[in-house]
Amino acid sequence: MSETIFTKIIQGDIPSRKAFENERIYAFHDIQPAAPVHVLIVPKKPIPSLNDIADEDLAVIGEIHRVAVQLAEELGIAESGYRVINNCGRDGGQTVPHLHFHLLGGGKLGALTG
Ligand code: C5P
Repeated sequence: MSETIFTKIIQGDIPSRKAFENERIYAFHDIQPAAPVHVLIVPKKPIPSLNDIADEDLAVIGEIHRVAVQLAEELGIAESGYRVINNCGRDGGQTVPHLHFHLLGGGKLGALTG
């Protein structure tokens, strides 16, 4: 699996505003926030996209959602609501080929379009 800018962020080679970290997951505030709260939650394992998750990755995918809830609580958006999004592939709008989930909130979010 190839390295991306997220590998460098996880390793600390590129600075980021960290929101959460444990052995398996790194979360940081998006550099170009699309909402008042916009955090990226990333497995440290460089899985390219949702298409590439293996059985052994299922636990960390679940844990990422637990981290999303924890961050939503810490960042004060759990009660008002939020969105967790994964963009997969070209048509899905994925620009970094290292699996990540966007946590968005802090204001009324626009309708999903497709
Ligand atoms: O889903 P997608 O691949 O488009 O999301 C990538 C996200 O990574 C973008 O929201 C972009 O702003 C963010 N990013 C960042 N810091 C970087 C490079 C990209 O927060 N250094």
